[in-house]
Amino acid sequence: MTLSRSRSVSFFILALFAVLINPAISSRASSFIKLPNSDEFPDESPDESQVIAHCAAWRLAVETDNAGEWKVVPRGCVPYVKNYYSSGQFDADYDVLVVYITNYAKTIKLAGNGKDAWVFDIDETLLSNFPYYKAHHGYGSEPYDNTQFNRWVVTGKAPAFDAGLRLYNALKELGFTIILLTGRDESQRSITEKNLLYAGYSGWNRLLLRGHEDQGKSATQYKSEQRSKVVKEGYTIHGSTGDQWSDLQGFALATRSFKVPNPLYYIA
Ligand SMILES: [Mg+2]
Repeated sequence: MTLSRSRSVSFFILALFAVLINPAISSRASSFIKLPNSDEFPDESPDESQVIAHCAAWRLAVETDNAGEWKVVPRGCVPYVKNYYSSGQFDADYDVLVVYITNYAKTIKLAGNGKDAWVFDIDETLLSNFPYYKAHHGYGSEPYDNTQFNRWVVTGKAPAFDAGLRLYNALKELGFTIILLTGRDESQRSITEKNLLYAGYSGWNRLLLRGHEDQGKSATQYKSEQRSKVVKEGYTIHGSTGDQWSDLQGFALATRSFKVPNPLYYIA
């Protein structure tokens, strides 16, 4: 018995050694280890299909939050991201999301006391800042610039996503109380309201923005605290829709949370 175990151990060590020193196996293994958030490609001169596969893998990693915090769109994936929007794929993804959300929402038995809440994020969920990211940020490949972004916000001209507006109206129609929870600053309340109305949104119950006491908090912390206050007021948050994982994680979570695709930026 002891001899047999000792032989097994020896065999295992030999096999491991063989794998480590075998250049064919080693190089093959390393070719699979590529950071998804880098500009590295499997080959030095990748063909188009390899680039698309790499960038699709990157996008899947960021959408599922497997990538965790990421700073910018990899330069090599800029054409991919651009095409994601111009090809209609983003719209198709959001359309499917709307179907899943409304199907779920229709199954909910509302208390009917005005406390059946649905929480919406605003930027990249209801309002699109794509024109800004296209014009000033190389489709997300350049670092975020808060000053420049705020200059865009005060124009109040961010358009609605067609699917976002459809979803918003459908949930309102079903009887949900709409709560808007945004990382925008309290000083931007007026322009945000104007922009929402300009884009076609109306009838929200409340608009929650970052106050003085919320400065410096992570989005997850700030948004969780705001939801918690809403819950303490007696609301049931049946659902939540946001484009960032920080909209959907933390505490005082909705019964179900839905992620809108966003390969342009990440907010922790
Ligand atoms: Mg957002």
